[in-house]
Amino acid sequence: MQIRQPIVAVLGHVDSGKTSLLDRIRGTGVQGREAGGITQHIGASFLPSETIKETCGILYKKLEQAEHKVPGILVIDTPGHEVFTNLRSRGGSAADIAILVVDVNRGFQPQTNESLKILQSRKVPFVVALNKCDQISGWRKSETKFISQAIKEQDASIQTDLDQKIYDVVGTLSILGYQSEAFYRVKDFRSEIAIVPISARSGVGIPELLSVLVGLTQQYLQKRLNQEEKEPRGIVLEVNDEVGLGQTANIILIDGTIKKENSIVVAKRDSVIVTKPKAILLPKPLDEMRDPRDKFKPVSQVDAAAGLKIASPDLEGVLPGSTLYVATNDAEIEKYTKLIEAEMKSVFIDTETN
Ligand code: GDP
Repeated sequence: MQIRQPIVAVLGHVDSGKTSLLDRIRGTGVQGREAGGITQHIGASFLPSETIKETCGILYKKLEQAEHKVPGILVIDTPGHEVFTNLRSRGGSAADIAILVVDVNRGFQPQTNESLKILQSRKVPFVVALNKCDQISGWRKSETKFISQAIKEQDASIQTDLDQKIYDVVGTLSILGYQSEAFYRVKDFRSEIAIVPISARSGVGIPELLSVLVGLTQQYLQKRLNQEEKEPRGIVLEVNDEVGLGQTANIILIDGTIKKENSIVVAKRDSVIVTKPKAILLPKPLDEMRDPRDKFKPVSQVDAAAGLKIASPDLEGVLPGSTLYVATNDAEIEKYTKLIEAEMKSVFIDTETN
Protein backbone atom coordinates (compact mmCIF):
# COMPACT_ATOMS: atom_id res chain seq x y z
CA MET A 1 0.00 0.00 0.00
CA GLN A 2 1.35 3.40 -0.95
CA ILE A 3 -0.17 6.15 1.20
CA ARG A 4 0.13 9.85 0.55
CA GLN A 5 0.42 12.64 3.08
CA PRO A 6 -2.87 13.83 4.63
CA ILE A 7 -4.21 17.27 3.73
CA VAL A 8 -4.65 19.26 6.95
CA ALA A 9 -6.86 22.36 7.36
CA VAL A 10 -6.96 24.80 10.28
CA LEU A 11 -10.27 26.31 11.39
CA GLY A 12 -11.57 28.31 14.34
CA HIS A 13 -12.83 31.67 15.54
CA VAL A 14 -11.09 34.89 14.47
CA ASP A 15 -8.17 35.68 16.80
CA SER A 16 -8.10 32.18 18.28
CA GLY A 17 -4.56 31.87 16.88
CA LYS A 18 -5.00 29.97 13.59
CA THR A 19 -2.37 31.99 11.71
CA SER A 20 0.03 31.86 14.65
CA LEU A 21 -0.39 28.10 14.84
CA LEU A 22 0.26 27.70 11.12
CA ASP A 23 3.35 29.88 11.40
CA ARG A 24 4.51 27.84 14.36
CA ILE A 25 3.94 24.53 12.58
CA ARG A 26 5.80 25.81 9.52
CA GLY A 27 8.43 27.49 11.69
CA THR A 28 9.30 24.15 13.21
CA GLY A 29 10.49 23.26 9.73
CA VAL A 30 13.06 26.02 9.70
CA GLN A 31 15.41 24.32 12.09
CA GLY A 32 14.60 21.02 10.44
CA ARG A 33 15.61 22.23 7.01
CA GLU A 34 18.88 20.33 7.01
CA ALA A 35 16.99 17.14 7.74
CA GLY A 36 14.97 17.76 4.55
CA GLY A 37 12.72 20.50 6.01
CA ILE A 38 9.47 21.94 4.74
CA THR A 39 8.78 22.68 1.11
CA GLN A 40 6.53 25.45 -0.08
CA HIS A 41 3.62 24.62 -2.36
CA ILE A 42 0.98 26.88 -3.85
CA GLY A 43 -1.52 27.46 -1.05
CA ALA A 44 0.01 24.80 1.17
CA SER A 45 3.19 23.72 2.96
CA PHE A 46 4.59 20.23 3.06
CA LEU A 47 6.20 18.94 6.24
CA PRO A 48 8.12 15.75 5.52
CA SER A 49 8.27 13.03 8.14
CA GLU A 50 11.85 13.95 9.11
CA THR A 51 10.64 17.41 10.15
CA ILE A 52 7.74 15.91 12.10
CA LYS A 53 10.16 13.47 13.69
CA GLU A 54 12.39 16.32 14.78
CA THR A 55 9.42 18.25 16.23
CA CYS A 56 7.80 15.29 17.98
CA GLY A 57 11.02 13.93 19.48
CA ILE A 58 10.47 10.76 21.50
CA LEU A 59 6.76 10.76 20.62
CA TYR A 60 7.70 9.88 17.05
CA LYS A 61 8.95 6.42 18.09
CA LYS A 62 5.41 5.07 18.18
CA LEU A 63 4.42 6.73 14.91
CA GLU A 64 7.44 5.18 13.22
CA GLN A 65 6.28 1.69 14.13
CA ALA A 66 3.02 2.02 12.20
CA GLU A 67 2.52 -0.44 9.39
CA HIS A 68 1.72 2.32 6.91
CA LYS A 69 3.64 5.49 7.58
CA VAL A 70 2.53 8.80 6.05
CA PRO A 71 5.37 10.57 4.25
CA GLY A 72 4.52 13.82 6.06
CA ILE A 73 1.60 16.25 6.12
CA LEU A 74 0.38 18.88 3.67
CA VAL A 75 -0.99 21.85 5.59
CA ILE A 76 -3.32 24.30 3.82
CA ASP A 77 -1.74 27.74 4.28
CA THR A 78 -4.90 29.84 4.48
CA PRO A 79 -6.83 29.15 7.68
CA GLY A 80 -10.55 29.61 8.26
CA HIS A 81 -13.72 28.43 6.62
CA GLU A 82 -13.55 30.43 3.40
CA VAL A 83 -10.86 28.28 1.84
CA PHE A 84 -12.19 25.21 3.58
CA THR A 85 -15.52 25.73 1.82
CA ASN A 86 -13.74 25.60 -1.53
CA LEU A 87 -12.10 22.36 -0.53
CA ARG A 88 -15.45 20.66 -1.04
CA SER A 89 -15.11 17.31 -2.71
CA ARG A 90 -17.73 14.65 -3.54
CA GLY A 91 -20.06 15.75 -0.78
CA GLY A 92 -17.11 15.58 1.61
CA SER A 93 -13.89 17.51 1.82
CA ALA A 94 -10.50 17.50 0.17
CA ALA A 95 -9.09 18.07 3.65
CA ASP A 96 -8.49 14.72 5.29
CA ILE A 97 -8.28 16.04 8.82
CA ALA A 98 -8.61 19.41 10.54
CA ILE A 99 -7.31 21.30 13.55
CA LEU A 100 -10.07 23.25 15.31
CA VAL A 101 -8.40 26.06 17.22
CA VAL A 102 -10.12 27.22 20.43
CA ASP A 103 -8.89 30.04 22.66
CA VAL A 104 -8.45 28.46 26.10
CA ASN A 105 -9.70 31.56 27.91
CA ARG A 106 -12.69 32.18 25.63
CA GLY A 107 -13.86 28.66 24.90
CA PHE A 108 -16.30 28.11 22.04
CA GLN A 109 -17.16 31.26 20.07
CA PRO A 110 -19.58 31.81 17.16
CA GLN A 111 -17.10 30.85 14.42
CA THR A 112 -15.92 27.84 16.42
CA ASN A 113 -19.48 26.57 16.20
CA GLU A 114 -19.69 27.43 12.51
CA SER A 115 -16.41 25.63 11.82
CA LEU A 116 -17.64 22.60 13.71
CA LYS A 117 -20.85 22.53 11.68
CA ILE A 118 -18.86 22.55 8.44
CA LEU A 119 -16.57 19.79 9.69
CA GLN A 120 -19.61 17.82 10.75
CA SER A 121 -21.40 18.21 7.42
CA ARG A 122 -18.29 17.21 5.47
CA LYS A 123 -17.49 14.38 7.90
CA VAL A 124 -13.95 15.59 8.49
CA PRO A 125 -12.24 14.19 11.58
CA PHE A 126 -10.56 16.81 13.74
CA VAL A 127 -8.40 17.53 16.74
CA VAL A 128 -9.03 20.49 19.07
CA ALA A 129 -6.01 22.71 19.71
CA LEU A 130 -6.77 24.54 22.95
CA ASN A 131 -4.57 27.53 22.28
CA LYS A 132 -3.00 30.33 24.33
CA CYS A 133 -2.25 28.19 27.39
CA ASP A 134 0.53 30.64 28.21
CA GLN A 135 -2.24 33.18 28.83
CA ILE A 136 -3.87 31.21 31.63
CA SER A 137 -3.49 33.46 34.63
CA GLY A 138 -0.50 32.28 36.71
CA TRP A 139 0.87 29.96 33.99
CA ARG A 140 4.55 29.36 34.55
CA LYS A 141 6.79 29.47 31.52
CA SER A 142 8.95 26.41 31.13
CA GLU A 143 11.70 25.18 28.86
CA THR A 144 9.95 22.07 27.62
CA LYS A 145 8.03 21.92 24.33
CA PHE A 146 5.95 19.01 25.61
CA ILE A 147 2.65 20.15 27.11
CA SER A 148 2.37 17.02 29.29
CA GLN A 149 5.63 18.06 30.96
CA ALA A 150 4.72 21.77 31.10
CA ILE A 151 1.44 20.95 32.89
CA LYS A 152 3.35 18.99 35.55
CA GLU A 153 5.49 22.05 36.17
CA GLN A 154 2.46 24.26 36.98
CA ASP A 155 1.07 24.94 40.46
CA ALA A 156 -1.80 22.66 41.48
CA SER A 157 -4.33 25.50 41.16
CA ILE A 158 -3.25 26.17 37.56
CA GLN A 159 -3.54 22.48 36.72
CA THR A 160 -7.07 22.51 38.12
CA ASP A 161 -7.87 25.65 36.17
CA LEU A 162 -6.67 24.07 32.91
CA ASP A 163 -8.63 20.92 33.68
CA GLN A 164 -11.74 23.02 34.21
CA LYS A 165 -11.22 24.78 30.88
CA ILE A 166 -10.76 21.42 29.16
CA TYR A 167 -13.99 20.17 30.75
CA ASP A 168 -15.82 23.27 29.55
CA VAL A 169 -14.85 22.29 26.00
CA VAL A 170 -15.76 18.64 26.68
CA GLY A 171 -19.16 19.86 27.92
CA THR A 172 -19.79 22.11 24.91
CA LEU A 173 -18.76 19.37 22.48
CA SER A 174 -20.96 16.88 24.26
CA ILE A 175 -24.02 19.12 23.79
CA LEU A 176 -23.09 19.24 20.10
CA GLY A 177 -22.99 15.45 19.95
CA TYR A 178 -19.28 14.72 20.30
CA GLN A 179 -17.39 12.80 22.92
CA SER A 180 -14.06 14.38 23.69
CA GLU A 181 -11.23 14.27 26.19
CA ALA A 182 -7.79 15.71 26.88
CA PHE A 183 -5.53 13.74 24.53
CA TYR A 184 -3.68 12.06 27.43
CA ARG A 185 -6.97 10.65 28.72
CA VAL A 186 -8.39 9.51 25.38
CA LYS A 187 -8.97 5.75 25.35
CA ASP A 188 -10.40 5.38 21.86
CA PHE A 189 -9.32 7.93 19.28
CA ARG A 190 -12.03 6.69 16.93
CA SER A 191 -14.90 7.76 19.17
CA GLU A 192 -13.38 10.58 21.22
CA ILE A 193 -12.11 13.91 19.93
CA ALA A 194 -8.65 14.64 21.32
CA ILE A 195 -8.13 18.04 22.95
CA VAL A 196 -4.50 19.18 22.94
CA PRO A 197 -3.59 22.22 25.06
CA ILE A 198 -0.99 24.29 23.22
CA SER A 199 0.55 27.71 22.93
CA ALA A 200 1.14 28.81 19.36
CA ARG A 201 3.24 31.60 20.85
CA SER A 202 5.70 29.52 22.88
CA GLY A 203 5.34 26.33 20.82
CA VAL A 204 4.48 24.20 23.82
CA GLY A 205 2.15 21.34 22.89
CA ILE A 206 3.04 21.35 19.17
CA PRO A 207 4.86 17.97 19.44
CA GLU A 208 1.75 16.39 20.97
CA LEU A 209 -0.60 18.09 18.49
CA LEU A 210 1.40 16.81 15.52
CA SER A 211 1.78 13.31 16.93
CA VAL A 212 -1.95 13.01 17.62
CA LEU A 213 -2.65 14.26 14.09
CA VAL A 214 -0.20 11.90 12.39
CA GLY A 215 -1.21 9.00 14.66
CA LEU A 216 -4.86 9.44 13.74
CA THR A 217 -4.19 9.57 10.01
CA GLN A 218 -1.93 6.53 10.08
CA GLN A 219 -4.43 4.53 12.05
CA TYR A 220 -7.78 5.54 10.60
CA LEU A 221 -7.31 7.21 7.22
CA GLN A 222 -5.27 4.57 5.40
CA LYS A 223 -7.99 3.74 2.90
CA ARG A 224 -8.49 7.39 2.03
CA LEU A 225 -4.77 8.01 1.68
CA ASN A 226 -3.98 4.84 -0.24
CA GLN A 227 -2.89 5.85 -3.73
CA GLU A 228 -3.58 2.55 -5.46
CA GLU A 229 -6.45 2.75 -7.93
CA LYS A 230 -7.28 6.33 -7.12
CA GLU A 231 -8.43 8.71 -9.85
CA PRO A 232 -5.97 11.58 -10.21
CA ARG A 233 -8.01 14.56 -9.08
CA GLY A 234 -7.79 17.92 -7.43
CA ILE A 235 -9.76 20.96 -6.31
CA VAL A 236 -9.49 24.47 -7.75
CA LEU A 237 -8.76 27.01 -5.00
CA GLU A 238 -8.64 30.13 -7.13
CA VAL A 239 -8.43 31.30 -10.72
CA ASN A 240 -6.49 34.41 -11.70
CA ASP A 241 -5.25 36.34 -14.67
CA GLU A 242 -1.55 36.77 -13.94
CA VAL A 243 0.99 39.00 -15.65
CA GLY A 244 3.28 36.89 -17.80
CA LEU A 245 1.28 33.72 -17.19
CA GLY A 246 -2.25 34.52 -18.36
CA GLN A 247 -5.08 32.47 -16.87
CA THR A 248 -3.95 30.33 -13.97
CA ALA A 249 -5.59 28.08 -11.42
CA ASN A 250 -4.21 27.29 -8.01
CA ILE A 251 -5.15 23.75 -7.22
CA ILE A 252 -4.75 21.19 -4.50
CA LEU A 253 -3.99 17.84 -6.08
CA ILE A 254 -5.71 15.33 -3.80
CA ASP A 255 -4.83 12.02 -5.43
CA GLY A 256 -2.58 10.75 -8.19
CA THR A 257 -0.10 12.46 -10.47
CA ILE A 258 -0.38 15.39 -12.83
CA LYS A 259 1.96 15.59 -15.84
CA LYS A 260 2.38 18.36 -18.34
CA GLU A 261 1.32 16.17 -21.26
CA ASN A 262 -1.92 15.15 -19.48
CA SER A 263 -5.33 16.66 -20.12
CA ILE A 264 -7.17 18.48 -17.38
CA VAL A 265 -10.93 17.92 -17.19
CA VAL A 266 -12.69 20.54 -15.09
CA ALA A 267 -16.13 22.04 -14.52
CA LYS A 268 -16.93 25.53 -15.75
CA ARG A 269 -20.27 26.94 -14.52
CA ASP A 270 -22.56 24.75 -16.64
CA SER A 271 -20.14 22.93 -18.91
CA VAL A 272 -17.03 20.77 -18.76
CA ILE A 273 -13.75 21.87 -20.32
CA VAL A 274 -10.76 19.80 -21.37
CA THR A 275 -7.42 21.55 -21.54
CA LYS A 276 -3.71 20.82 -21.63
CA PRO A 277 -1.63 22.83 -19.16
CA LYS A 278 0.68 25.38 -20.76
CA ALA A 279 2.74 25.07 -17.60
CA ILE A 280 2.65 23.37 -14.21
CA LEU A 281 4.24 25.61 -11.60
CA LEU A 282 5.57 25.32 -8.08
CA PRO A 283 7.06 28.11 -5.96
CA LYS A 284 10.79 28.60 -6.35
CA PRO A 285 12.88 28.15 -3.24
CA LEU A 286 14.06 31.55 -1.95
CA ASP A 287 17.69 30.86 -2.81
CA GLU A 288 16.80 30.19 -6.45
CA MET A 289 14.79 33.39 -6.83
CA ARG A 290 16.94 36.03 -8.48
CA ASP A 291 14.11 38.42 -9.20
CA PRO A 292 10.97 38.75 -6.99
CA ARG A 293 8.82 38.54 -10.15
CA ASP A 294 10.42 35.22 -10.89
CA LYS A 295 8.48 33.32 -8.25
CA PHE A 296 7.58 30.07 -9.95
CA LYS A 297 9.43 27.07 -11.21
CA PRO A 298 7.98 25.13 -14.18
CA VAL A 299 7.89 21.40 -13.52
CA SER A 300 6.86 18.47 -15.69
CA GLN A 301 5.16 16.38 -13.01
CA VAL A 302 3.70 16.66 -9.49
CA ASP A 303 2.50 13.89 -7.16
CA ALA A 304 -0.36 14.16 -4.67
CA ALA A 305 -0.96 15.54 -2.21
CA ALA A 306 0.32 18.91 -3.42
CA GLY A 307 -0.55 22.52 -4.01
CA LEU A 308 0.33 23.73 -7.51
CA LYS A 309 -0.49 26.24 -10.20
CA ILE A 310 -1.50 25.44 -13.76
CA ALA A 311 -1.50 27.96 -16.55
CA SER A 312 -3.90 27.57 -19.48
CA PRO A 313 -6.01 30.10 -21.39
CA ASP A 314 -9.00 27.75 -21.16
CA LEU A 315 -9.25 28.16 -17.40
CA GLU A 316 -11.06 31.48 -17.58
CA GLY A 317 -14.42 31.19 -15.83
CA VAL A 318 -13.57 28.10 -13.81
CA LEU A 319 -15.02 28.50 -10.32
CA PRO A 320 -13.15 28.00 -7.06
CA GLY A 321 -14.22 24.74 -5.48
CA SER A 322 -14.51 22.94 -8.86
CA THR A 323 -13.27 19.38 -9.08
CA LEU A 324 -10.54 18.70 -11.60
CA TYR A 325 -9.47 15.35 -13.04
CA VAL A 326 -6.27 14.40 -14.83
CA ALA A 327 -6.74 12.28 -17.97
CA THR A 328 -4.05 10.44 -19.91
CA ASN A 329 -6.16 9.37 -22.91
CA ASP A 330 -9.46 9.96 -24.72
CA ALA A 331 -11.31 7.23 -22.83
CA GLU A 332 -10.36 8.87 -19.54
CA ILE A 333 -11.38 12.29 -20.83
CA GLU A 334 -14.80 10.86 -21.60
CA LYS A 335 -15.02 9.05 -18.26
CA TYR A 336 -14.12 12.15 -16.23
CA THR A 337 -16.38 14.41 -18.28
CA LYS A 338 -19.29 12.13 -17.36
CA LEU A 339 -18.20 12.04 -13.72
CA ILE A 340 -18.08 15.83 -13.52
CA GLU A 341 -21.46 16.14 -15.23
CA ALA A 342 -22.90 13.78 -12.61
CA GLU A 343 -21.23 15.76 -9.81
CA MET A 344 -22.60 19.02 -11.21
CA LYS A 345 -26.06 17.56 -11.14
CA SER A 346 -25.70 16.38 -7.54
CA VAL A 347 -24.41 19.80 -6.44
CA PHE A 348 -27.47 21.30 -8.07
CA ILE A 349 -29.76 18.95 -6.14
CA ASP A 350 -27.81 19.75 -2.94
CA THR A 351 -28.43 23.46 -3.20
CA GLU A 352 -32.05 22.87 -4.09
CA THR A 353 -32.82 20.67 -1.13
CA ASN A 354 -30.81 22.58 1.48
P1 GDP B 1 -6.38 34.09 13.84
O1 GDP B 1 -7.27 35.26 13.59
O2 GDP B 1 -7.15 32.94 14.38
O3 GDP B 1 -5.52 33.72 12.69
O4 GDP B 1 -5.42 34.52 15.07
P2 GDP B 1 -3.93 35.05 15.05
O5 GDP B 1 -2.97 33.95 14.84
O6 GDP B 1 -3.84 36.24 14.16
O7 GDP B 1 -3.81 35.49 16.58
C1 GDP B 1 -4.58 36.51 17.15
C2 GDP B 1 -3.81 37.17 18.27
O8 GDP B 1 -3.55 36.22 19.32
C3 GDP B 1 -2.44 37.68 17.83
O9 GDP B 1 -2.18 38.88 18.51
C4 GDP B 1 -1.50 36.58 18.29
O10 GDP B 1 -0.20 37.07 18.56
C5 GDP B 1 -2.17 36.10 19.56
N1 GDP B 1 -1.86 34.70 19.84
C6 GDP B 1 -2.00 33.65 19.02
N2 GDP B 1 -1.63 32.51 19.64
C7 GDP B 1 -1.24 32.86 20.88
C8 GDP B 1 -0.74 32.12 22.01
O11 GDP B 1 -0.57 30.89 22.00
N3 GDP B 1 -0.46 32.85 23.13
C9 GDP B 1 -0.65 34.18 23.21
N4 GDP B 1 -0.36 34.78 24.33
N5 GDP B 1 -1.11 34.90 22.16
C10 GDP B 1 -1.39 34.26 21.02
